Amino acid sequence: MERHVQIWNECLGVISEITSPQSFRTWFEPIVPVSFKDNVLTIQVPSPFFYEWLEEHYLDMLKRTINRVIGREGRLEYRIIVENDANPQVTILPSKHKNETINPMMSSQDILNPFIIPGLKRMQIESQLNQNYSFDNFIEGECNQLARAAAMQIAENPGKTAFNPFFIYSATGLGKSHLCHAIGLQVKHKYPNKNVLYLQTEQFTQQYVSALKNHTLNDLVHFYQLIDVLIIDDIQFIAGKPAMQDTFFQIFNFLHQSGKQLVLTSDKAPVDLQDVEPRLLSRFKWGLTTELTLPDLETRVGILRQKLYDDGVVLDDEIVNYLANNVKTNVREMEGVLISLLAQSSFNKKEITIDLARQIIDKFIRNTVREVSIDYIINVVCDKLNVGIDKFSEKTRKREIVQARQLAMYFSKKYTKTSLTIIGQMCGDKDHATVLHACKTVENLMETDKKFKKLASEIEKKISF
Ligand code: ADP
Ligand code: MG
Repeated sequence: MERHVQIWNECLGVISEITSPQSFRTWFEPIVPVSFKDNVLTIQVPSPFFYEWLEEHYLDMLKRTINRVIGREGRLEYRIIVENDANPQVTILPSKHKNETINPMMSSQDILNPFIIPGLKRMQIESQLNQNYSFDNFIEGECNQLARAAAMQIAENPGKTAFNPFFIYSATGLGKSHLCHAIGLQVKHKYPNKNVLYLQTEQFTQQYVSALKNHTLNDLVHFYQLIDVLIIDDIQFIAGKPAMQDTFFQIFNFLHQSGKQLVLTSDKAPVDLQDVEPRLLSRFKWGLTTELTLPDLETRVGILRQKLYDDGVVLDDEIVNYLANNVKTNVREMEGVLISLLAQSSFNKKEITIDLARQIIDKFIRNTVREVSIDYIINVVCDKLNVGIDKFSEKTRKREIVQARQLAMYFSKKYTKTSLTIIGQMCGDKDHATVLHACKTVENLMETDKKFKKLASEIEKKISF
């Protein structure tokens, strides 16, 4: 077998593993290897359009494949047949990959210009980004330092950092979606031509279901292959849908292999996601996985100030501090209280006072999040055990305080979706192993100690009411 045929066959072997059978048939089978000389592999493609498409969508993949098969010196060149009325012309064009190394100043437009095909427009994709969630108004704190820094690097260099995929997880209302939009907006700002797509996992599910019904799964997959930065929010909802996971796996692999950026969020760490295929979970862990934790007081104050600034509202520091001190479990809730407070005062022409703030917090927390609020659980437990709230987080081994913390941990795990890390933080600044241990202890005591069992069920009644 001739050398160029042999090399191209090897390339095809690699490519077929990475691309879907459909794309392989469409874009790679029609290619004919022409020659191999001085490390340059020349392949013939059927049309200029073909050349553009390959360079646009498969450049990174081709680059990697060539590097792997020929070595770092390997180059790719296209032989293109241009149908020009009666006399077909043959043009040889280097892959952008080669041009970039020879002349970094040369823009891709210079290469593509002679071949712009009338009517062929670059696909425009509606990114679905929310302009209100940018890096500018995302307040930095210890709780989000790593995630924010990584997000900013990704936005500067999508697909080119080690953070791919970028997997952010946390309890609800701690800024995952905000960060996602911030990444997308910044990419669009810096690289207006990149295709960025933000979507909720439910949207993906809907698309998948309708593609399945209309027999257009291939189109769906092809559509996703055009994306440069794919941001999927709340990926935990992919659980328990194996066929959809297969399709997502295919999209994920394609994008990852082609050096495109993936950003995923979830309410749990990959290890804790249930009913998700192991091969998909293991991919999630390839890049950077990071958790957003509870913001500390200073960060909460900062966030409130930012929201007030965005809304053009002035509020006494005293009130801001009161809110930040009394709503700790999640940022969305804190914002909710702030908005109700502003609304209440403007509807009823009431002055904003600490007292009004207290009323609203009580009402808000009771109505919307009582069953999922760790603050509430801690309150009930402390009340029942006669432990002052201020003592609850104290560094002490006093029996009743330790027991209060253990019970609060146990019920928080049982009745909220909060991660063990955060439960630990909120119950005396302990780590997640301590929380697990506490849960075991409570379970054991409930089995062996009648008095304890009675106490625990009284608490439970109040919490689960
Ligand atoms: P999640 O997706 O984790 O449930 P969101 O991103 O929707 O949370 O955040 C909830 C609200 O809290 C949003 O309005 C968001 O702007 C705000 N928020 C969260 N963290 C921050 C932060 N560090 N700085 C500013 N706003 C924040
Ligand atoms: Mg969200």
